[in-house]
Amino acid sequence: KLVVLGSINADHILNIEQFPRPGETVIGKQYKVAFGGKGANQAVAAGRSGADIAFIACVGADDVGERVRRQLATDRVDTQSIEAVENCTTGVALIFVNGEGENVIGIDAGANAALTPNYLARYQQRVIDADAVLMQLESPLDTVIAAARLAKQHQTRVILNPAPARELPDELLAMLDMITPNETEAERLTGIAVGNEQDAARAAQALHQKGIDTVLITLGSRGVWLSERGEGKLVPAFKVEAVDTIAAGDTFNGALLTALLEGKTMQEAVRFGHAAAAIAVTRPGAQPSVPWREEIDAFLQR
Ligand code: ADP
Repeated sequence: KLVVLGSINADHILNIEQFPRPGETVIGKQYKVAFGGKGANQAVAAGRSGADIAFIACVGADDVGERVRRQLATDRVDTQSIEAVENCTTGVALIFVNGEGENVIGIDAGANAALTPNYLARYQQRVIDADAVLMQLESPLDTVIAAARLAKQHQTRVILNPAPARELPDELLAMLDMITPNETEAERLTGIAVGNEQDAARAAQALHQKGIDTVLITLGSRGVWLSERGEGKLVPAFKVEAVDTIAAGDTFNGALLTALLEGKTMQEAVRFGHAAAAIAVTRPGAQPSVPWREEIDAFLQR
C-alpha cells in the first residue's frame, strides 16, 4: 500500500509563443483549466498505473475542491484523507507554456497550507500501515518532516521528490530511503550543477553522503541517473515527440512507486516510470496527460 502526501491545485494553462517580459502582454491560445498539483499528479499517476494508493491532502471548501475529490476517486485514489478546509480556496497554479513546450508557473498554495503536522496526525495510521510514503515540497516542510519521522518509526519507506527546488535540512535528508530530484533540484540540494552524467554521479554521491541509499536524478529526455549506494548508471528515457513536459516528473514518480510496490527491480521500475512519463509528455496538461496501466503496458510492448 502506498500513501502520497502532498498538494492539490487547479492549473490554469495558457499557450503562448514566447514568455512575456516584465510589463509585456502577450496573446495566448487554448486556455484550459485542468487538475494538477505535484501531490495530486503523483497520486493519479500511481492510481492509474495500478497502485493501491491513499492520498493525504487538503482542498478548499469550494466547488473546485469537490470536483477534484470526485475526479481523484475516478482515478483509483482513496480520498478519505482529503478534507475540505473552511475559509480556504483550493490551491491554484497559473501556467504559461511556450512554443518550445517549456513552462513557467506561479502558485497560490491555498488549502495546501492547511496540511499541517496536526492535520497529518489525524491520518497517521495510514502512514504507519503503508509500505511507502511519497512526498514533494508543495506542502509545509514541518509536515513533510513529521511524516518522514513517523514513517521511519514504523518501517514505512520514505521517498521524496524534492520539487519545487529548495535547500533541505540534513535531518530530513537522513530519513529518506530514496530521493528523485531533477537537475535543478539536485543542484539546489548539493551545490553541484548537473550538466552531464559525471555531474549527476557527483551530485548522487553527495546525496548518498547525507544518508540516502537510493538516488534517482531525472535528466528530462535523457533519462535518469540511477545510483544505489554509490553504484551509478544512466537509464535512458524513451524517444517521443514532446508536446509539453508538465507533470513529466510527477508521472515518473507515481508510476515508479507502483512498479516498486509490485516488487519489480529498480531497473524495471525506472523503465516503467519512463514509459508512463514518455506518454505524458506527448499529451498536454497535468492530470489529463497521465496514462492508465493498459497504455503503459502497451507502450512497453511496442
Ligand atoms: P521534471 O518534470 O520534474 O523536471 P524531468 O524533466 O527530468 O523532470 O523528467 C522526468 C521524467 O520524464 C524523465 O525521467 C523521463 O522519464 C520523462 N521525460 C521528460 N521529458 C521527456 C522527453 N522529452 N521525452 C521522453 N521522456 C521525457
